[in-house]
Amino acid sequence: MAQRVSVNDGAAGSKRTSRVRVAVRLRPYLDKQDEKGEGPCVRGLGPQKLEIINWRNATETLQYQFDVFHGEQTTQQEVFLTSVKPILPHILNGQNASVFAYGPTGAGKTHTMLGSQEQPGIIPRAVKEVFKLVDVQEKEQDGWEYSVGMSYLEIYNEKVLDLLSPGSQDLPIREDKDRNILIPGLTRTPLLSFTDFDTHFIPASLNRTTASTKINQRSSRSHAILLIKVVKSQRGPPHRQQTGKLYLVDLAGSEDNRRTGNQGIRLKESGAINLSLFTLSKVVDALNAGAGGRVPYRDSKLTRLLQDSLGGSAHSVMITNIAPEYRYYFDTFSALNFAAKSKQIVNRPFVRETVLAPTIGKQCSFMFFFFLFSFLF
Ligand code: ADP
Ligand code: MG
Repeated sequence: MAQRVSVNDGAAGSKRTSRVRVAVRLRPYLDKQDEKGEGPCVRGLGPQKLEIINWRNATETLQYQFDVFHGEQTTQQEVFLTSVKPILPHILNGQNASVFAYGPTGAGKTHTMLGSQEQPGIIPRAVKEVFKLVDVQEKEQDGWEYSVGMSYLEIYNEKVLDLLSPGSQDLPIREDKDRNILIPGLTRTPLLSFTDFDTHFIPASLNRTTASTKINQRSSRSHAILLIKVVKSQRGPPHRQQTGKLYLVDLAGSEDNRRTGNQGIRLKESGAINLSLFTLSKVVDALNAGAGGRVPYRDSKLTRLLQDSLGGSAHSVMITNIAPEYRYYFDTFSALNFAAKSKQIVNRPFVRETVLAPTIGKQCSFMFFFFLFSFLF
């Protein structure tokens, strides 16, 4: 048998570190009736900027700038085209990529990643696009063949669980000599087409661990991670091979667990969620600071798993999902602070543009009591 030469353009082996692109997506106000009364507490200011009311001082707003801001009118197609499609060709050339949805429960992470039959999200669109790119490349470069495979797992309470093999135990995370991250024992299902993907993915996504908290009936307490692997093999000698990995991640809710009334098992989950999201924020910070300092990948399972696909020569996008309603205010505020490391306080009130009443004064007192309430209880 011909010797296989592994060509590794993996992230960890390279000295280059790339930034994580940060996008924010604001979902529409869900209760139209309610919107007339209270209105949103956050709004877009352009393709990169948004502002949120400053609860400390209603004569000011807090303005943030990101790589991309997707306003409430943005379609699933637009999010895909701007934030995800451009990174997909790299997967066919042995490079890695990752796309995350971050944000509080109810802000639109699953809508963004998975979507619905009528409004498919990033996952089905990305998988379709990968098959399209493979088709094109196979026609253009006949010296190579491609194989596509999927794995689907979740990290729940710092345990790595295989969603394609329900009932499996916590799986170990290992690193090979080329610094690629591997999970021995994880199911890898070969895929021939998009229909093939659907057949395996839909039932598996129902295996996700969900439980109710005070905030949301089906609050997601685990990180769901879909891995699409593309192996490109040279038909003739020297039989070079390149592997590209794409991670599509629907993170657990980022809400402040002090407020969700979590106890017992829920509290343990909260600790694990906080650890991995906190570590993710430190990793993203370290990568975006670009100083070549230590990136704390090993501090949580989530970041350890993504080590070769986040930073290095990998291509990463974080989509922070936020909601416009006042009841999300503090979760939105902390999600924005997670996503943007700087904000500007601007001396202008958060003026209601569409509705005259209630006044800023009323909003301000509402915010004051909301604030007191959330920290007292
Ligand atoms: P999360 O996964 O962050 O908890 P979901 O994706 O489940 O949030 O979204 C919460 C609700 O808001 C769902 O009913 C979802 O359909 C709706 N939703 C989220 N984002 C949008 C959007 N951009 N447009 C329309 N509805 C949305
Ligand atoms: Mg969800």
